[in-house]
Amino acid sequence: MRRKLVAGNWKMNGSLAANAALVAGIKEGLSAQACDVAVCVPAPYLAQVQAAVAGSAVALGAQDVSAHASGAYTGEVSAAMLNEFGCQYVIVGHSERRAYHGESDAAVAAKAVAALKAGLVPVVCVGETLAQREAGKTNEVVGGQLDVVLEALDAADVARIVVAYEPVWAIGTGKTATPEMAQDVHAMLRARLVVKSAEAAAKVRILYGGSMKPDNAVQLLAMADIDGGLIGGAALKAVDFLAIIQAAA
Ligand code: PGA
Repeated sequence: MRRKLVAGNWKMNGSLAANAALVAGIKEGLSAQACDVAVCVPAPYLAQVQAAVAGSAVALGAQDVSAHASGAYTGEVSAAMLNEFGCQYVIVGHSERRAYHGESDAAVAAKAVAALKAGLVPVVCVGETLAQREAGKTNEVVGGQLDVVLEALDAADVARIVVAYEPVWAIGTGKTATPEMAQDVHAMLRARLVVKSAEAAAKVRILYGGSMKPDNAVQLLAMADIDGGLIGGAALKAVDFLAIIQAAA
């Protein structure tokens, strides 16, 4: 059985005061958990949130990482730096980075490799646009995005990654994939993982992301290949985030 993971993606939201209140609220409401919990915070707040979650069941993550180890890369943050601040997870290839920062599949793969090398778990995001879905290209696009990352990894590393299926048309829109639509894609992704390593495929957690909320989480998380959620908007309110964690437990 794969242990479920509920990860909050705060995106570019928060402040010292808001973060303190949010983490305190999450910690307060967290019971002995049957699922893993993480918050992926903006880089300037890593130290703050590292201290705030210390000793709790909440793990820390970042939202992006450089493919490079160090050097003249102005504005970038390395995997080793994230490690120093206690990160366990880092999101790579979020659709907002692919769309607004031109991140290619190859760049996403290089980031996943850099994360793994530093001992971080990359949360590899894949997803299709509405136009791609309507053109019947979902499996080709989403499967292709995953394949490029898998090609860069050996089987042992594959077992350490997390995959997040996030249909672009569902992110921040209030439109979710139905549980069946999401399950179809998750099963397809699992099959791609099996090609690489059946043993790894059985272990890899495939999260769903895209307007996951307390009122749809139970149904989504009940599907065989949905192993958790990557939560944007609903991760900014402790009560909503906790309700999703509860649904996963
Ligand atoms: P959302 O975002 O939950 O606000 O749709 C999810 C994500 O982009 O990770």
